[in-house]
Amino acid sequence: MSNSANLFCLPTGLIIINVISPLKKSTMLSETSIQEFRANLRGPLIDRQDQNYDEARKVYNGMINKYPAMIVRCADVADVMACVNFGRENDVCVAIRGGGHNAGGLGICDDALVIDLSPMKGIHIDVEEKTVLVQGGCLLKEIDHATHAVGMAVPMGINGTTGISGLTLGGGLGNLTRQFGLTIDNLLEAHVVLADGTYVKASEKENKDLFWALRGGGGNFGVVVSFLFKLNPVHTVYAGPMLWDVEDTVEVIKWYREYIVDDAPDELNGFFATLTVPPAAPFPENLQLKKMCGVIWCYTGSLEKAEKVFQPIRNFKTPVLDWVGPMPLPALQTMFDPIFPPGLQWYWKADFVNELSDEAVEIHYKYAAKLPTWQSTMHLYPINGKAAEVDKKDTAWSFRKANWAEVIVGIDPDPANKDLIIKWAREYWEALRPYSAGGAYVNFMMDEGEDRVKATYGDNYERLVKIKNKYDPENLFKVNQNIKPSVKEHA
Ligand SMILES: Cc1cc2nc3c(=O)[nH]c(=O)nc-3n(C[C@H](O)[C@H](O)[C@H](O)COP(=O)(O)OP(=O)(O)OC[C@H]3O[C@@H](n4cnc5c(N)ncnc54)[C@H](O)[C@@H]3O)c2cc1C
Repeated sequence: MSNSANLFCLPTGLIIINVISPLKKSTMLSETSIQEFRANLRGPLIDRQDQNYDEARKVYNGMINKYPAMIVRCADVADVMACVNFGRENDVCVAIRGGGHNAGGLGICDDALVIDLSPMKGIHIDVEEKTVLVQGGCLLKEIDHATHAVGMAVPMGINGTTGISGLTLGGGLGNLTRQFGLTIDNLLEAHVVLADGTYVKASEKENKDLFWALRGGGGNFGVVVSFLFKLNPVHTVYAGPMLWDVEDTVEVIKWYREYIVDDAPDELNGFFATLTVPPAAPFPENLQLKKMCGVIWCYTGSLEKAEKVFQPIRNFKTPVLDWVGPMPLPALQTMFDPIFPPGLQWYWKADFVNELSDEAVEIHYKYAAKLPTWQSTMHLYPINGKAAEVDKKDTAWSFRKANWAEVIVGIDPDPANKDLIIKWAREYWEALRPYSAGGAYVNFMMDEGEDRVKATYGDNYERLVKIKNKYDPENLFKVNQNIKPSVKEHA
C-alpha cells in the first residue's frame, strides 16, 4: 500500500485519514465528514478497509497500480454532484472513471477520490429522433448491443470493452470514422456536473463553449454523466481482417496509403495493422504466431455492391488470410476483445501522421518484423473521409487534416516483459518521429507532459485554456491530459 496515506486512531476514537497526494497538499479528513458523505450517497463508498478495494481500484492496463483514498461507485447524478462537492470542499484530488481503459490509467489516481461511473449504464433509444442517450458508465459493446437491435449505430472504437466516456471526450476513432466521422461528430448533447457542483447541459444551443471543448478536450471541464448521440443506419457490414505476410509490409502500406486516401469509397473504413496471429483456434494452425501485416475493413454500403468494392483490393495482392465478409456490426466491434483481456501490461506511444513516406514505411517494416510479444501491435487509423470534413476550429479536436492516428502498443501479460515492450515501442516511435505531424491523439497517449498536450491541441489550446478558466479555474479535474487554467490553481 502507498505509504503516503495513513490512518491515525486518536485516543478519543476520532479517526483521521491523512491524504498526502502528489497533486495536492496534505488534507485531514475527519471520520465524521466521511461518514456524512457516505450517508448521502446512493452508491457504495469503497475505502482502503473495504474487502472490494483491490478489485475496485483495478484498471484495464495492468501496468497501472494506484491506491486511491476512496472510490465511489456512483448510482446517479446526485452521487456525482456529492463527489464533486466533497472533493472541492475538502481539497481532495478527484479522478473520473468511465470504462477504466485509459492508456495512462487516468481514470484513477493515488490518494484521490475516484468518481466511478461504472454502475451508470442507462441507454435510451429514440427511434423517431434517431438518437441514443447513454450514461457515462456504458461500455461500447453495451451501446452497440442496444442500437443494433434497431439497425442503428454510433461510430465508436474498435474494442467493445472500452468506456464511452473517455473515448468520446478524447474524440473517438474506429471502424466507422470514414463513414460517419469521429464519435464527437455525432454528439448532440452532454449533461455535465461542473466543478462548482452544478448540473448543466452542453449543446450547440446551450453552453456552446463547453460543448466545443468537450468534443476532444478530454475530462478537463466536468463530469459528463450522459451523452446524447445521433444514430446512423448500420446493421450488417461487410467487414473483417485481411492479412499478408510481414515480408510484404512495404508493398502493402505503399498500396494502402494511396487507396485509403484517394480511392476508397466513403462507405469503406480500413485501418492498417502489424500484428502476430494469435496462437489459438479459430486461426489456422499454419499461421499461428506468424507476424503479419493487414487491414481491418468495414464496409457499410449495400451488401450487393460489397464483392465488387473488394475486387480491386483482393486483386492488388491475394491475402494470406481473408476473413472479410458479411457480419453484424457488433461482431466486428467485439472481434478483438478475447485477444486483449483486462489486466495485460500495455505501453503506448502515438503520433498523428500526414503522409506515410517511403522512409517511414521501411521503419514500419523493420519494427513489424521484431514485434516483441504476440499481442504487441501497431495501428494506423484513417482520419480522412467524413472526419476530415469537419474544420479543425469546429471542435477542440484539431488534427482534422492529418491522414492517420498512429499508435504503437507493446502488450504482454507478464510484468517481467515490461522493459522489453517499452524498449520496442519507444525505439519504434523515436525512429518515426521525423515523419510525424506533431501531436498525438490524446486517447492514445500515456502521461507525457504539458508540451505534448499543447502540441496535440495546436491552435485550439488557447481557447481551451479560456474555457478551462471559466468552468474549472482551480483545476479540480486534473487527472487527465491536463489543460492547465491560467488563473489561480490549488496548491
Ligand atoms: C483495448 C483498447 C482499445 C482502444 N481502442 C480505441 C479505439 O478504437 N478508438 C479510440 O478512439 N480509442 C481507443 N482506445 C483508447 C480509449 O479511447 C481511451 O483509453 C479512453 O480514455 C478510454 O475511455 P474510458 O472511459 O474507458 O477510460 P477511463 O480510464 O475511465 O477515463 C479516461 C479519461 O477520461 C476521463 N473521463 C472518463 N469518464 C469521464 C466522464 N464521464 N466525464 C469526464 N471525464 C471522464 C478520465 O478522467 C480520464 O482522464 C482504446 C483503448 C484500449 C485500452
